[in-house]
Amino acid sequence: MNEGMMIECLPKLYEIGETIEQACLYAQSDFKARKAQVLPVIQAGITAIYAKTKELFGTLSNEVEQSGENLSHNPIMGNYENWKQNYWVFTITKVSEKLRTVLQRNDICVEQYQEESIYKFLEIFQKLKVDSHTYAVIELFLSEFCRTSCPKLAYDLIIEAFSMYPDIVKLPHIKSSFEKKIINEQQQLNNCPVCSGKGFPYHTAPAYLINTFQSDFLPAKLWMKCECCGNLYTRYFPKKFFNRKNQLKVITPHQNIEQKLASDVSIRMLRTWCDMLQNMKQYTKGKNILEIGVGKGALIATAIEMGYPIDCVEIEEDVAQNIADLLQHPVICCDFLDLPEEKTYDIISMGDVIEHLDDPRKGLEKARRLLKEDGVIWISTPNYNSAFNQLNRNCTAMWDEPWHITYFSREGLEKLLSEVGFDVLDYRISNHYNGSMEMIVQKKKN
Ligand SMILES: [Zn+2]
Repeated sequence: MNEGMMIECLPKLYEIGETIEQACLYAQSDFKARKAQVLPVIQAGITAIYAKTKELFGTLSNEVEQSGENLSHNPIMGNYENWKQNYWVFTITKVSEKLRTVLQRNDICVEQYQEESIYKFLEIFQKLKVDSHTYAVIELFLSEFCRTSCPKLAYDLIIEAFSMYPDIVKLPHIKSSFEKKIINEQQQLNNCPVCSGKGFPYHTAPAYLINTFQSDFLPAKLWMKCECCGNLYTRYFPKKFFNRKNQLKVITPHQNIEQKLASDVSIRMLRTWCDMLQNMKQYTKGKNILEIGVGKGALIATAIEMGYPIDCVEIEEDVAQNIADLLQHPVICCDFLDLPEEKTYDIISMGDVIEHLDDPRKGLEKARRLLKEDGVIWISTPNYNSAFNQLNRNCTAMWDEPWHITYFSREGLEKLLSEVGFDVLDYRISNHYNGSMEMIVQKKKN
């Protein structure tokens, strides 16, 4: 094996690409008329690639064996390993792209073909006995093409790729902030957290790609859809964050903090809260607010400016302390389910809260008990079926969000709210979170 030989291999690489291209073009042009035969055509293309690859790699591996040198310490072999990896990445990308084009243009039996084709690809690479790292790269690539059509398969592919090759994210073509390899124990949700119904795999998100990725979470997020209520829930969630409890404690602001980090709240966000409070005037005369989850402190600051008394509860102690210091305003630190119920409120804000709850029904029931008879609750949460998500077809950041447990549709949330004893007064599309919905609700009047 020498560099000359590597150069000699390059034309073959393009030849393989051509073969795939031809097979796919043929399949594409003739798809409608012979849809049942498309898969065999693509498979024939793949078989041709397999034959060529075997020929090519057969020669290469003989060379390697004959050289009798230590592969890992030989600089040329090092290059060869790199080259081989790139070669596979190139091949599989090309095959996958072509396959996707063919499948997307023909909506008939897409799912069936996609699943079968992916298994076929894997079989070929198993036969080729590619090393486990290369195989993991292939699995990760293939997962891209079946996140919606075969979510369970996409999930299995990502998880297997990561267990086989945890450093896979360090490859230059994979942009991820996933660093640690430790994957903590996961809580498996066997039933829908909203109605206890049975769910089926709905969508798999490549969670390892998000910026805020933490090793406590799995690199893939499998979303289930409930057969009964139609809402979505995550299949797995880290046990250590699930149903955690901490003692109620009032966080008082530290005095004389010189170098407090400023919050990066936008002026638009403050105006959004200002408008929300103004809008509330038509539903309630009261001004006492409870905010559940302090976020970046925008509502608290707005309420203070507008002269609304506000209490706030936050589960994360460092977040609570930070906001308390920044705004010089006390924050109650506990799970809001543990909040004493003697004090009730005119306005309760549940901005981006219910998607974090392992029991959203319990959360809404608690909020109802904390609400005055003529009070109102403002709720904001992602709507998986929103206009935004329909228009951006599964390309939204919502899916990757590791901390979220449940996603509702408008109908799904309205049904739950009604069961808990609320009437919906207002529905809006959020102007600060893509794909989120906002509702104003009050206690049902009998
Ligand atoms: Zn359900």
